[in-house]
Amino acid sequence: MSRTAVLIVAAGRGRRAGGPLPKQYVGLAGEMVLKRTLQAFDRHPRIAALHVVIHPDDEALYRQATAGVSHKLKDFIVGGASRQQSVQNGLNAMAAQQPAPDRVLIHDAARPFIDAALINRVIDGLDDHDCVLPVTPVTDTVKRVENGFVTDTLDRSSLFGAQTPQGFQFKAILELHRKASKASGASFTDDASIAEQFGLAVHTVAGAPENVKLTTPNDMAMGELMLRQGQNDEQTGKRETRTGTGLDVHRFEPGDGVMLCGVKVPHEFRLKGHSDADVAMHALTDAILGAIGEGDIGAHFPPGDPQWKDAPSSLFLQHAMRLAAKAGGRLVNADVTIICERPKIGEYRDEMRRSLAVLMQTDVSRISVKATTTEQLGFTGRREGVAASAVANIELRADDE
Ligand code: MG
Repeated sequence: MSRTAVLIVAAGRGRRAGGPLPKQYVGLAGEMVLKRTLQAFDRHPRIAALHVVIHPDDEALYRQATAGVSHKLKDFIVGGASRQQSVQNGLNAMAAQQPAPDRVLIHDAARPFIDAALINRVIDGLDDHDCVLPVTPVTDTVKRVENGFVTDTLDRSSLFGAQTPQGFQFKAILELHRKASKASGASFTDDASIAEQFGLAVHTVAGAPENVKLTTPNDMAMGELMLRQGQNDEQTGKRETRTGTGLDVHRFEPGDGVMLCGVKVPHEFRLKGHSDADVAMHALTDAILGAIGEGDIGAHFPPGDPQWKDAPSSLFLQHAMRLAAKAGGRLVNADVTIICERPKIGEYRDEMRRSLAVLMQTDVSRISVKATTTEQLGFTGRREGVAASAVANIELRADDE
């Protein structure tokens, strides 16, 4: 798997945001801008390391901004006279790390509203491209102005704003920055421009309108408002609950017990299947995948694939839970119904609930296991096998992608 690191450019002196501090160290709804930016990457599971380039005068402020950031954060790097020089210092320091990253996302410290979905788009883009740039369409009509008069109206449909994080294959951008520093006169305000200048194709992905660069006092005021609103949304629960259902059936074959919810229940048969045939866990896995719109168990674990032969079904359930977590989801509750005449389930129910709660890393009160018969009707009534159905509720942020 590729190792992706982030380089945050925080060496600027920009005081346009007002006040005596460089804007990356200004407090925004009670937290420094740089800290908010770092936290967004720190909690992202696909980011392995965080590197920050700072101004030599800012070490004390930097220490304050990075209190509580995880071990992903590496030693700071001292920046240079220009943004370009600062990034180059950062890349050189990263190249000396063991291991050096395969990919780097270069991000402005003054963009604290970067979200996980945009980070994912940039990282995914690097699967097929050397350079990935998030862009947003220009909404204002754009004029060229000279000496106070309009000389041209530009075609807005082909104009986009460039954001960060800009993603690169690490070796490629390191080499281009070294080249750029030798080229005389050129000064680049972002890293995609360097790639462009030296003929590297720049692939674009959708940026995010809220991923603004805080520059003016007005930006800071807007940012503060956005955060206060966001905190309100958290408190008032601007999230939504999605429901998924699952249904599965496995037939009996001679054996010494059936696996249900990870618990082996003694019986004169076992369930036939490619994996351990835990019919209840399969139904539950499908319910979770259903709630997050991720297809079904067969799509993730093809039954013909030899690697899943006799596999414990906990693998499937935990995979579905990881996908839910990746989507920002939280399990609200799950309810499983096991349908059979035999074996009798009742005395195993609590053990089954505990088994599922451990696997799903949740409280046992959020997990229900029930059992029913079909009054000796149908295939379960004839004791030919076991059926199971499940419902899962997953809470997701309402605006998640
Ligand atoms: Mg199955």
